[in-house]
Amino acid sequence: MSSNSNTIYDTIIIGAGPAGLSAGLYASRGNLKTLILEKGIVGGQLQVTHEIENYPGMDHMTGPQISDAMETQTKRFGCEIITGDPVVSVNLESSPKVVKTAKGEFKGHTLIIASGSEHKQLGVPGEKENWGKGVSYCAVCDGAFFKDREVVVVGGGSSAVEEGNFLTKFAKKVTLIHRRDELRAERILQNRFKANPKTDIVWDSVVTKINGGVLGVESVTVKNLKTNEEYDFPCEGVFIYVGLIPNVDFLESKIETDEAGKIKSTIKMETNLPGVFVAGDVRDTVLKQAVTAASDGSLAATMAIAYVESLEDQHLVAAS
Ligand code: NAP
Repeated sequence: MSSNSNTIYDTIIIGAGPAGLSAGLYASRGNLKTLILEKGIVGGQLQVTHEIENYPGMDHMTGPQISDAMETQTKRFGCEIITGDPVVSVNLESSPKVVKTAKGEFKGHTLIIASGSEHKQLGVPGEKENWGKGVSYCAVCDGAFFKDREVVVVGGGSSAVEEGNFLTKFAKKVTLIHRRDELRAERILQNRFKANPKTDIVWDSVVTKINGGVLGVESVTVKNLKTNEEYDFPCEGVFIYVGLIPNVDFLESKIETDEAGKIKSTIKMETNLPGVFVAGDVRDTVLKQAVTAASDGSLAATMAIAYVESLEDQHLVAAS
């Protein structure tokens, strides 16, 4: 979709995950002219999560089902959503603020950054070469290709263990390879994984190489960090969950971030720039959950509403 240079939105939200959709719902219901820009498809991490069992009131629903429900509700209040159009740069000093995407340019009095995060790569030889040929970062997307096969999951956080649990639906065996001797994943997920007879855990070990042949992955080279022993572990699938990196490249360092690159925020979801708010995984939050992202979004939108009202009070909107 190309830009409409005559339109000035009250708020532009970058990202249509749970944080962005919730912000869109609150902003449009609060009578702001609201646009959500999404580089991919609506839903963010919800789209690649099979079952969400800790979003209050949404029991036995998949990530995509919750995402669909949020999208429908948000659009009902007039929020516009453009998908498949990545934001490439922003001008946050101008009034109104300007957001450039691959296909157009959009103006807004306020901005809510809800651009989320992406799964980190492991950075070992064979990872890039075998991506799509056995290496995956999405069990929900690719798990079914590994029916009755042997797979490994790399990492010890909630993503690794949760997706490892999901993979047991298909795989013959799921082996988690973790660099320490304890997992950081939520206890309930750990217990479920350990209780499943199709699972195993290789402790104190890292994957140093992914070995592929013409048909795809054949094994991973594993190094035990305590003994320095190195050996090849046969498997056909390698699912990598070693943490998340915030999506902030398009900001070109124009907003303050912490040492991990996450946007610094106040408890009111304010950034260091006036009229620019933040919500969800991209900010310096301690808990990364769909429900906390949605909560952030509601607060960021409420602050955006107050900011637009203050501009109206100062007659700046009319003058811009
Ligand atoms: P995470 O919590 O940061 O865990 C990353 C894991 O990867 C850690 O176990 C870490 O090991 C390991 N790791 C990091 N770099 C590595 C490397 N180079 N080689 C080998 N292992 C490496 O990331 P996440 O699991 O993606 O979770 C992200 C956030 O989402 C968390 O806040 C989590 O609670 C949340 N989340 C929640 C749920 C849920 O509630 N059901 C599900 C998924 C995610 P160390 O432990 O040794 O550092």
